[in-house]
Amino acid sequence: MSFFSTRGGSCVTASQAILRGIAPDGGLYVPAMFPLVSSGKISELGQMPYPKRALEILSLYLEDFSQAEISEAVHAAYSPDRFDDPAIAPLKPLDESTWVLELFHGPTLAFKDMALQLLPYLTVLSARKNGEKREVSILVATSGDTGKAALEGFRDVPGTSCTVFYPLDGVSDVQRLQMVTTGGKNTHVIAVKGNFDDAQTGVKELFASSEFAEKMDARGKVLSSANSINFGRLVPQVVYYFSSYADLLSRHVISSGSPVNFCVPTGNFGNILAAYYARQMGLPINRLICASNRNKVLTDFFASGLYSTHRVFFKTKSPSMDILVSSNLERLLFEATDRDGELVRTWMRTLKECGSYSVGDQRHDWLESIFWGGCANDIETLAEIGRRFRMDGYLMDTHTAVASSVLREYRAATNDPTPTVLVSTASPYKFARDVLAGIAGEEKTAQLDPFACSEELERLSGVPMPDQVRVLLDLPIRHTAQCEVGGMGDAVLKEFARI
Ligand SMILES: *Cc1c(COP(=O)(O)O)cnc(C)c1O
Repeated sequence: MSFFSTRGGSCVTASQAILRGIAPDGGLYVPAMFPLVSSGKISELGQMPYPKRALEILSLYLEDFSQAEISEAVHAAYSPDRFDDPAIAPLKPLDESTWVLELFHGPTLAFKDMALQLLPYLTVLSARKNGEKREVSILVATSGDTGKAALEGFRDVPGTSCTVFYPLDGVSDVQRLQMVTTGGKNTHVIAVKGNFDDAQTGVKELFASSEFAEKMDARGKVLSSANSINFGRLVPQVVYYFSSYADLLSRHVISSGSPVNFCVPTGNFGNILAAYYARQMGLPINRLICASNRNKVLTDFFASGLYSTHRVFFKTKSPSMDILVSSNLERLLFEATDRDGELVRTWMRTLKECGSYSVGDQRHDWLESIFWGGCANDIETLAEIGRRFRMDGYLMDTHTAVASSVLREYRAATNDPTPTVLVSTASPYKFARDVLAGIAGEEKTAQLDPFACSEELERLSGVPMPDQVRVLLDLPIRHTAQCEVGGMGDAVLKEFARI
């Protein structure tokens, strides 16, 4: 399988796409085609353990990797000593027509682990396949969860380093503590005095800068990306859509070929795009419900066909979705234009220069036939946490609650009876203060420090607190660097000079 850029150029192998992260023309790598998975094969997946399911799906795309290489990587990444549920991505019943796909059982308690536990293996293999001798230096911009997941994935992996930028005031207490206490000799964490979009734009500029590449090269390093624009992040996410469908089949909830919906809390559009890829590969998906928080640029896009960043940026209680420029949408646009790289490039230029683009009526109709966008503000989000806890006895985090609230709205608007999988992206303990507020009222949390919130949440809900949260306060803070939005490149070089 070869890979092309969404902006028209290049034809590279899977390992090259993973190593480079972003195409030289600024576009994102997309597979030349979508391999089909038969309904028979989908049923078979239900009898396999998760690593084997991953092997089946990944090998369709990673053609320049051997079966043995992929097998070794998925068994190491999705092992019981890294995930606290043997199913890895367990599917749990929520109400009579809804199931929750829990993607937060990895080491950092958010769905990013599903990809970032695997990516380091793919990166090291890709470097070897392409004769890369330099250190592979991962640069990441994070809205909270990617950072810690990347740090944990790459920590002390030989031949790599991992540098994370996070928005100084844009992440939760637990998210920040998780990152700044990270161990390992090759990890760096830098707070940017700006929001997530500033950090993401800054990282993209470093990737595009030949001057910065030369400076890195002089230090024996080559840049690579672990952000969700990297195809190596995307493809492991395709797996769990097949996995959850196979689980529904083997539990006789649905029969082979019958459609399901997925409702996905969305920020950078990586998770839901993987669902779309699964659909293209033959997974029977009816609707993809795209849930946003108050930063509802995608909701408006699916309603109108106009993508516009002319709006105020809000900090919300679902910070990992506080995004105005959803990078992975570019891959969907590529499909919406029948793979017209020229047109995608024009739109992306217009977006950069004027802050908006419009896809036109025909393409908008096509998008609306597959996607449905909705949003929930913080008040609705907390109310949904309380409602699900009382009505269904299920404790969900703020991001999942955004999706749950949007699913409620979708059903009211469409009367669609299709069984729906609600994708749960974080442990409630990652956002304990807000989850506690959702089930006990905001006034309950005011006097409590972050750890006390977790303890109170455990007491009230009976859901056990993960060990990763319990130990957090005892870990020493190892990373204190900060930088201005314009000074990210220098901050990286300073970190490397420090060690
Ligand atoms: C990253 C993240 C999201 C958004 O996922 P995208 O792939 O960026 O759309 C949602 N919820 C949580 C908890 C996350 O960490």
